[in-house]
Parts: sequence; structure tokens; C-alpha cells
Amino acid sequence: MKKIAILGSTGSIGTQTLEVINNNKNIFKVELLTANSNFKLLANQANKFNPKVVIINDVTWVDELSKLIKNPKIEILHGTESLNNFSKYCDIDLVVTAVVGKSGLLPTVNAINNNVDIALANKETLVVAGRQILDLLKKSKSKLLPVDSEHSAIFQCLNGEKKSNLEKIILTASGGPFRGKDLNFLKSVNKENALNHPNWEMGKKISIDSSSLMNKGLEVIEAKFLFDVDIKDIDVIIHPESIIHSMVQFNDGSIIAQLGEPDMRLPIQYALGYPERLNNSYKRYDFINSGSLNFEKPCYKTFNNLKLAFDAAEKEGNSPCILNAANEVVVSAFLEDKIKFLDMTYIIEESLNKISYIANPNLDQLIETDRLTREYTQEKINKY
Ligand code: NDP
Ligand code: MG
Repeated sequence: MKKIAILGSTGSIGTQTLEVINNNKNIFKVELLTANSNFKLLANQANKFNPKVVIINDVTWVDELSKLIKNPKIEILHGTESLNNFSKYCDIDLVVTAVVGKSGLLPTVNAINNNVDIALANKETLVVAGRQILDLLKKSKSKLLPVDSEHSAIFQCLNGEKKSNLEKIILTASGGPFRGKDLNFLKSVNKENALNHPNWEMGKKISIDSSSLMNKGLEVIEAKFLFDVDIKDIDVIIHPESIIHSMVQFNDGSIIAQLGEPDMRLPIQYALGYPERLNNSYKRYDFINSGSLNFEKPCYKTFNNLKLAFDAAEKEGNSPCILNAANEVVVSAFLEDKIKFLDMTYIIEESLNKISYIANPNLDQLIETDRLTREYTQEKINKY
């Protein structure tokens, strides 16, 4: 039995991970679950999967949670300290990092320091501290397995291939709900429009990121670190149907792609089962009856976030960390109707210009960069 922890079990990736586990109860055992504040769902999950430990980040809900959990043997913890040190409370083989934003960074570091394998959904961690995570991984037995569908695709395409033969990574993007629109159109879009993704049902933060193409920008940085490639060797192409999840091109011109229905349970299952491929009965892609597959060039002028992300990836140092922190703050402000859609990218760009650049930051300097950027970005928002 593989012993699994899910950080963020009440979210979109977390609940789909539990579905995959439920379909494979003979090989996976849930040991630890966490949520931010959704104590009702966390309690339901605990009652169904019987983990050793549950952690609720927001202390307000501990008593309510305790009342709902039936098995008195389940240890109930709370707070960020517990989350950040999750692996000390029970024996874990693999953790699924399905929390959102920078909150995934320290739990991921904890997993690496304790040789726990990681199924990484929380891309922000690699954006904030990709180089530092790579360094820590070199000293650890942990495997870092991608859950993001594009990165799972690339990982699968690279199976058995020599890294030196890789010419480029072709990262596909659906284009989100505003594909093909111009700046004038984007001036007046609201959060309901932005949350309405054509192909995927996801948490709010990543849905907004998808609409602004920041998600693809974060994924470019994620790919750079996961596969340790030069940023010039990553191309983004729009593929509205989200059937080809990404491709790799080799030195002989051959391209290998990974295809399938847009269903996050597939990359989740692949990461959980790796190196095995597990059975399932999910919908199969039908080439004959599914219509054509299309490709377009992304417009970097309209979707400035994508350009900002490529630039930050090129500069490296603490630039991706600034990009991420500013983005997390503006996305929250946009969801609270405090700023308009295009203000998000303007404020991120200003933050990137304003916060001091550090070429080789350590983890503490990145945490400080994150704090300063959030402070600066929030001040900007308050003036709107
Ligand atoms: P959701 O918003 O649906 O879920 C987030 C989870 O994290 C919830 O369990 C939430 O708890 C918990 N959480 C939120 N904030 C905090 C915090 N500050 N501290 C501790 N826990 C917290 O997000 P998604 O599942 O959509 O995304 C999770 C990660 O996976 C993101 O990094 C995203 O980019 C990535 N990802 C998601 C995909 C998707 O299809 N959804 C696809 C590819 C990557 P609560 O429910 O109590 O609020
Ligand atoms: Mg993705």
C-alpha cells in the first residue's frame, strides 16, 4: 500500500485525487488530509477515508471539525506550522500538493527534506523557488512527479528518452475564455466572464490565471525547472480543444505528444501510480467523432502576463517569485472587485520593476521578496 497525504484535499485537485484513490483502494491508503477552512468537507473526507491525521489551517474551525469527525483515533491538528511540517505526524510515501499559491512552498520543502515523494499540483512552489527546490532534491531521495496536465504530458513524452536529445518543449494552452479577444474587449470583462473556462473546472485562482494567460506563464517557469531546460527551448502554442496536453520535439525533428480527454484525474492517477500505469474506465478520446484539432499563436501584446512570465523566467533570481506574489495579490483583489481585469497585469509589471532584483537568492530571501512584493502590490491596489 502506498501511503498518501493530500494537502488541500477539499479543493478541485484534492477531491479528484480522492476519487482516484477511491477507485484504487487496494493500492493507496490515505494517511493525512488538510484544508484551509472547509471543515465540513474535510470531516466528510476523514469519515470516509479514515486517515491518521487531519490538519485545518484556519484555527477558527477546529472545534466544529472535531465534532464532525467520528473516529476518535484521528489526530486533529491546526495551523500553518502543522501544515508546513506535515510529514512528522505520520509515515507518508507520497504527498499530493494541491494547496493553492505560495502556501505550498514550505510543505514541499518539508517533504523533500524527509524523502517523501511529491505529486506536484501546486505549480506556484516551483515558480517561487524552482532553483532552490532543484538543489534540495539533489540531496534527497524524493521524486518530483508533475500533476499539471501539460507537465505530466511532457514527463510521459520524455520517458526512456535521452535528455540531451531534447530540442524543445511545446507547451499547449487552451487560450482560456478570452482567446482571440483584444485589449479593448478585456477592458470591460468581469470575474464571472473570467471564471468561465471553456474546457476545465478548477479552483478560482487558477481559473483567473487561465483567463489572463498567467497560468501558462507560471507553467513555462514550472517546465523550465521541472525539466531543467533553457527558457528559449520552451514554446507556447494555443490549442483550444485541450486534447494534446503538450509535446516534445527531439534533435531529429520527431515530435512526441501526449493526448487524451481533458480530465485532471488522468495526470493525478499517473503521478500516484508512477511508474505503473493504472486501469480506469474514464472516457476515451474518439479521433473520428471529436472534430478537428486547431493551433494558434498566442498574442503576447494582449496577454502581457505571458510576456512578463517569459522575461521573469529568463532573468531568474527572485523575479519569478515577484511575479508570483504580485499575481496572487492582484487575483484576490480582482475576485473581490477591487480592480479591473487589465489592472492585474499593469500592477504585476510595476511590481517587477519596483522590487529589488536578487540574482542568487536563498530561501529566506525569497520569503522576504514575497513579503515585500505583497506589501507593495497591496499598497498599489489600495490606491485604485
Ligand atoms: P482550489 O482552490 O480548488 O483548492 C485549494 C485547496 O487548498 C483547498 O483544499 C483549500 O482549502 C486549500 N487552501 C487554500 N488556501 C490555503 C492556505 N492558505 N493554506 C492552506 N490550505 C489552503 O485549488 P485547485 O485545486 O484548483 O488548485 C490547487 C493547485 O493545483 C494550484 O496550485 C493550481 O495551480 C494547481 N492546479 C490545479 C488544476 C485544476 O484543474 N484545478 C490543474 C493544474 C494545476 P479550503 O477548501 O478549506 O479553502
Ligand atoms: Mg496546466
